Amino acid sequence: MHLPSIDELGDIAGKRVLVRVDFNVPLAERNGKMVVTDDFRIRSALPLFRDLQARGAEVTACTHLGRPQGEPVEKYSVNPVREHLDTLIDGVHLLENLRFSPGEEGNDRSFGIELTDSYDCYVNEAFGASHRAHASIMVPPTLIPSAAGPNLAHEVETLTGLLTNPRRPFVAIVGGAKVADKLGITKVLVDKADAVIVGGGMAFTFWKAMGRTIGDSLVDDSRISEVLELLATGRVHIPDDVWALPTGSPFGAGGTETPTHFTGNVPDGFMALDIGPSTALRFAEILGSAGTVLWNGPMGVFEDPRLAAGTRAVAEALSSSEAISVVGGGDSAAAVEQFGVAAQMSFISTGGGASLELLEFGDLPGLRALRGE
Ligand code: AMP
Repeated sequence: MHLPSIDELGDIAGKRVLVRVDFNVPLAERNGKMVVTDDFRIRSALPLFRDLQARGAEVTACTHLGRPQGEPVEKYSVNPVREHLDTLIDGVHLLENLRFSPGEEGNDRSFGIELTDSYDCYVNEAFGASHRAHASIMVPPTLIPSAAGPNLAHEVETLTGLLTNPRRPFVAIVGGAKVADKLGITKVLVDKADAVIVGGGMAFTFWKAMGRTIGDSLVDDSRISEVLELLATGRVHIPDDVWALPTGSPFGAGGTETPTHFTGNVPDGFMALDIGPSTALRFAEILGSAGTVLWNGPMGVFEDPRLAAGTRAVAEALSSSEAISVVGGGDSAAAVEQFGVAAQMSFISTGGGASLELLEFGDLPGLRALRGE
């Protein structure tokens, strides 16, 4: 997919450039003051800022932060982000939270015009926000010369390349809690990949479709027939053993009960929360011979050490494999960090929702806007 690059903006010396970034970073109170607790997204934008400054441009960034619902809310002010940015680079301005105006999420053209008014050029470096048709993403490219930032371009190239020309065998791993959210992408992957591994809470809709008992494990009864179609392809691999806790026993933070191991079926009164050791071995074996792996979603409740073994096994199998490994954002990115294998991954996507939508539909509203469509 061709996206206009910074070079295509021509000579930008003396020009005022507006950069849409995704600085929707975690904040926490320290000594009575809000501070940025993870600045990965901010640091990722620095090469672009430096490049623009080196070309003589004056750089202003803009972002959303949290969900202030279209009005100014003190706790969603970008002030802590601005202070942090100032410690990393000189001379980059940061506008106040875009979502303080209802025009941003409403994709209001007049808000976009006002936003763009003082600038000569626009750069979209907010991959993680480009699946949303919001004013700061959609309107500027219709008004002033616009380009894709390098991170956005790289992210798009990597993810679309996966679907068009992957090194085979191409193995996809889908996990996490919500079948409804991930069934669309799972269908695309079953079509494109040589094997699709399904773990996490999603797996039990597949179990139920096969007539297995699942106790109180997560299930989406409305998706059973779609799941049966996927199973019929023969390319879907699901768990055969699991770890489960009695229904209602706390997990996540503070639980102490030892999980019980089940093979094939989960009885009433139990909820399955991680893949078991035999499944972990089988999945690791599939990953061992893969040429490309795309991973989205954990195999279990990995935030709880009692239920982390399955996700850890997948992370470790990926870290020791020769495969090109692409981790699709959100929870899986957190998991590879937690298990210390992030550096061994080929690519970690920053935009959870955006990366899934790009893989599923092959395009995003913000990319269409940059292409002038
Ligand atoms: P998602 O947002 O759909 O990617 O889901 C991620 C969440 O799924 C993580 O917080 C996991 O704790 C959770 N999860 C993974 N496996 C299970 C499971 N078997 N049952 C319930 N939640 C799960």
